[in-house]
Amino acid sequence: MNLRNLPSVEQLLQTRLAAELIASYGRPLTLQAIRSTLNEVRSHASGTKEATVPNREILLNRAGSLLYTWTAPTLLPVINASGVILHTNLGRAPLSPAAIQSMDAISRGYSNLEYDLETGKRGSRLIHAETLLQKLTGAEAAMVVNNNAAAILLVLSALANKKRVVISRSQLIEIGGGFRIPDVMRQSGAKLVEIGATNRVHLSDYEEALSEPTALVMHAHHSNFKMIGFTEEPEQKEIADLAHKFGVLFVDDLGSGTLLETKRYGLAHEFTVQESLAAGADLVCFSGDKLLGGPQAGIIVGKATLLAKIKKNPLARAVRADKLCLAALTATLLHYLKDEAEGEIPIWRMLSITPKQVKARAKYWAAELGQGEVLEGESTVGGGSLPGESLPTWVLSLTVKNSDKFMERLRQEQPPIIARTENGHILLDPRTVAPEQDGALLVNLANILQSQKRKRNP
Ligand SMILES: *Cc1c(COP(=O)(O)O)cnc(C)c1O
Repeated sequence: MNLRNLPSVEQLLQTRLAAELIASYGRPLTLQAIRSTLNEVRSHASGTKEATVPNREILLNRAGSLLYTWTAPTLLPVINASGVILHTNLGRAPLSPAAIQSMDAISRGYSNLEYDLETGKRGSRLIHAETLLQKLTGAEAAMVVNNNAAAILLVLSALANKKRVVISRSQLIEIGGGFRIPDVMRQSGAKLVEIGATNRVHLSDYEEALSEPTALVMHAHHSNFKMIGFTEEPEQKEIADLAHKFGVLFVDDLGSGTLLETKRYGLAHEFTVQESLAAGADLVCFSGDKLLGGPQAGIIVGKATLLAKIKKNPLARAVRADKLCLAALTATLLHYLKDEAEGEIPIWRMLSITPKQVKARAKYWAAELGQGEVLEGESTVGGGSLPGESLPTWVLSLTVKNSDKFMERLRQEQPPIIARTENGHILLDPRTVAPEQDGALLVNLANILQSQKRKRNP
C-alpha cells in the first residue's frame, strides 16, 4: 500500500462528513477518532498487498463508528423477563412514579438539603427521612447512608472500634460479589468473636462469649441461603435479652428489611423492621433497595443516644446519602405511611400480582407472537431476600434451536431482554416486566423469531 496517498488529518477535517461528526461528537473527540483511524491504516499497511489506500469516505465512516462506540452508554435500561423480582445485577428495585418525580424535582435545581427554611441557617440532610422512619417503625431515631454495607461499617466503627463484637458462625455470610459480612466487620476495627458451629449456635455460646467485656452482639440475617436439617439459632429476643443482661448492645443486620408482612403475599414470614425493634434490637440496619422497594441506601434505626454517636463519627460523612437518594427514599417511605405501598411500589405490585393475571399476560404475549406455550412456573424474590421462596407464576416458553444463541440475541436488543432458560427452552415471566414495556418486548421478540425463521427457510 502506498501510504503517500493516504489523506492527512487536515484534509479529512475539511470534508462534509467530518463536519457532521464534529457537530455530533465535538471537535477534540472527532480529531482523536480520525487519528486512530489513520494509525490503524498505517499499522495495517505493512501486512497487506492491497495497492490502494481506503478513500476519504471509508476512512470517515470508520472514524464515525469509533465515535459511536466510544460514546455509546454502558449503563442501559433492560427488560427483566427473568421473573427474579429483586435482581442485584439488574439494579434491584425499580422506583415508584412518585419517587422518580421527587428525584426529578430535586435534581433540576437547588433544594433545602442542608438548609433550615425556618431559621435560614444550616440544617441537616438527615432530617428528611428520619421523621418518616420514626413514624413507620416506632424507632427513636434513624439515619440514612449510602448502602447497608456502609451502615454496618459505620455502626461498628462508631460503637465497636478495637472492641469485641460477638457473632455466630452461622451468620458469617457472603452477600454477593465476594463481599462478606466478616470482612466488613473487620474493616471497622472491631474484634470479631465467632461463636457456635456453622449449623448450630446456642444461647450458652453467647453467654460464654459475653463473660469478657464486649461492645455488641451482632445478628445478621441469612439473606441468601437457608439452613435446613440439624440447625439451631436462638430467637432475636432471647439474644437481645441476654446481651442487655450483660449491658451489651444488640445490633440486627436485617439485610432486606421489610416493613410489610410477606406472608400476605404467599411467601414465608420475613422478620420485619418493626419486629426486630420490638424484639429488643438497639439498632437495626437494612437496605433501601431490597424489599423496601426504594433507591440504593442503608438505613439505621434505633436508640437515639446510639444514633447521635454514630452521626458524629467521621465515617458518617464518607458514606452519607446524596440528595437524589433522599428524594426517592422519602417518597417511597410516604407510600408506606399512606398505606399505598402495594399499589404504588413496583416490587410490591409485582409480588401481589395473582397467577391468573400473569397467565392472562403470558397468553396475550403468545397470541401477539403467534407462537410459544404458556406454562406454569415460578418467580423468585431474589436480591438477598427470602431465599428458596418462590411465587407461582405463568411463563411464555419458546422452543428454539440454540437457547444460548437465542439468549445472546435477546441481550443484543434495544432495550436488552433478560430471560431464563430451562431444558433448552426460553422462559419469559411477565411478572417482572412493566406493562409499558410490553410493546418493546413483543416487537423485538417478533423480529428475532422472524429472522430465525428466515435463516431456516431462506
Ligand atoms: C444485602 C445485605 C447486605 C448488604 O446490603 P447493601 O445495601 O447491598 O450494601 C448486608 N447484610 C445483609 C444481611 C444483606 O442481606
